[in-house]
Amino acid sequence: MADIKQLPPSVINKIAAGEVIERPASLVKELLENSVDAGAHRIEVAVGRGGTELVRVSDDGCGIVEEQLPLAVASHATSKIRDADDLFHVGTLGFRGEALASIAEVSRFTLRSRTTDSSAGFEMEVNGGSLGEIVPCGCPVGTTVEVRDLFFNTPVRRKFMRTTQTEMGHISETFMRVALAHPGVHFTLRHNEKIVYDAPPVENWRQRIAILFGGELAAGLIGVESADGPVRLIGYVADPQFSRGNNRMQYLLLNGRYIRDRSLGHALGEAYRGLLLTGRYPITFLRIEMPPEMVDVNVHPTKLEVRFQEGGRLYSQLLGTLRKKFLTTDLTAKVQSVAATSDATASVDGAGAAMDAQYAQQHRRQLADWAKGQLPASAEQADQGALDLQYESTGGAGLEITRLDRPWPAARQSSHTQFAVPSNDLPPSNEPQGPSALQIHNRYIVTEDESGVVIIDQHALHERILYEDLREKVMLEKMETQRLLVPEPVSLTAAEAAAALEQRDLLSQLGIELEPFGGDTVLVSSYPAMLANLGPAELVRQVVEQLLEGGKAPDRRDLLDELLHMISCKAAVKAGDRLSQAEISALVQRRHLCQDSHHCPHGRPTALVFTREELDRRFKRT
Ligand code: ADP
Ligand code: MG
Repeated sequence: MADIKQLPPSVINKIAAGEVIERPASLVKELLENSVDAGAHRIEVAVGRGGTELVRVSDDGCGIVEEQLPLAVASHATSKIRDADDLFHVGTLGFRGEALASIAEVSRFTLRSRTTDSSAGFEMEVNGGSLGEIVPCGCPVGTTVEVRDLFFNTPVRRKFMRTTQTEMGHISETFMRVALAHPGVHFTLRHNEKIVYDAPPVENWRQRIAILFGGELAAGLIGVESADGPVRLIGYVADPQFSRGNNRMQYLLLNGRYIRDRSLGHALGEAYRGLLLTGRYPITFLRIEMPPEMVDVNVHPTKLEVRFQEGGRLYSQLLGTLRKKFLTTDLTAKVQSVAATSDATASVDGAGAAMDAQYAQQHRRQLADWAKGQLPASAEQADQGALDLQYESTGGAGLEITRLDRPWPAARQSSHTQFAVPSNDLPPSNEPQGPSALQIHNRYIVTEDESGVVIIDQHALHERILYEDLREKVMLEKMETQRLLVPEPVSLTAAEAAAALEQRDLLSQLGIELEPFGGDTVLVSSYPAMLANLGPAELVRQVVEQLLEGGKAPDRRDLLDELLHMISCKAAVKAGDRLSQAEISALVQRRHLCQDSHHCPHGRPTALVFTREELDRRFKRT
């Protein structure tokens, strides 16, 4: 029979230490949090050899009275909560009373502390868990904790420590997370006596970001703010020109605590969709403030993850706030500085300047409605929407609506016989000719505008134009559809048929009419005219695939959006398609009409510009 025994406290503490103290950076995190909780205004971190030799954190906080010193390093001893109820409104960073006990168990630990009403300080040493004598010492008000030789008594753990450089990297990251979350506190970080960061207290959060992440990034940030009941979201997001190959630059601070959250990370990705290439991640600095009882912070050993009571609502708030912001922000600014510093041959274009201002404004309004999720839900509302637009368009920008409604030539001179290009799809010949343009390699169009030489990716731009066109048509319920004389049966798997029929309403907004036909077969009775070359069966398959993939999309609008992206990609001219002169100039002209003409819906740039200055510089004219 197995012999069950109670473990001695030192073993219990070592087990606990294993959870909380993973590497030197964990010391920095726990000690910094204690100093913040102690109300410090100034916190200094000194590190020796990536923290393997020394981590010292000094603060000018409230200090600990002499009699309480042994309790500070006892496990499950804390001044921050009293009973289980307190767990549900934690207002401090710490609350488990485990950190100092764990640290002291696996290191040579010294703590010096003095409170304001004491004339002297006291020093306590703990060596691998064994408490030494407490002796008076001279020290300023506040607390200094010194941790030496981490894991000296747990050799296996010690082996897991990496190079000084790696450990220092983790320490810097940890330091930045805390410093970012508390801009009113003065933080410094030293490594081997050299100053790494010196972050004085600031009123404006952007200044703290600039100190930690550099002025160039900070200067380009876009401020965002919103409130949903007691939940406040405030911070900055970076222009899409700044992005990363991973999500580490997505800072989420919940009530002063750095957190990671998959769902909110997803919302960020969604908000930037179409603005970043696949595999790129936006840079964001966001603070979420909410009453502590709305979130459970006691779900993760290092409190890196939390559980929100209303996670879905927060998701929507985050996504909505960013989307609205992007729609009212001109993201098409030229990236001169980036081009200049990186010696790129071309800068990414922004056609913003060329955009007809009135037109842009009208378009933006529509987009804003779109972003707010105001899709015409019923025919009645749709009519109302159309009327509003009509009214708006006659009240000043009369022509624009017509211009936009003119169908873009479905330009593929494809061999599909069922695909005829209706003659009215081509721009009328009396249309003022746009700038001349040259197609090269059957995939790029080279033209000029007032800023310089523009090289357009024909597929990417056409896709963008179609996408915006389609989106507008869906909003106005003006999709041009092709009715089938004889509805076409399409056989699917059970899951596919179910998904398709479940989203029948949504699909009919896109002009795709489906009916159940028994078993796993559906009948297609109409589909978008612009997708004639795809054939109804193929189209339905593609759409269903998207439905199943995008099934995680949080709402109807997102799903619709994904379908629009797919359809426009399928319908657009491809790289390799030879275009006629009329098609080329129509494409170039429409370029200025789209809201985000410099990115295709997948986020690839649609055009590159060699500015006049750039050319002059390269030809050494200046
Ligand atoms: P917790 O932070 O979860 O309470 P810790 O083990 O980190 O647990 O700290 C134990 C206690 O020691 C804290 O509750 C606090 O009262 C005290 N303490 C720790 N660090 C400091 C500090 N820098 N200044 C003042 N008090 C501190
Ligand atoms: Mg603590």
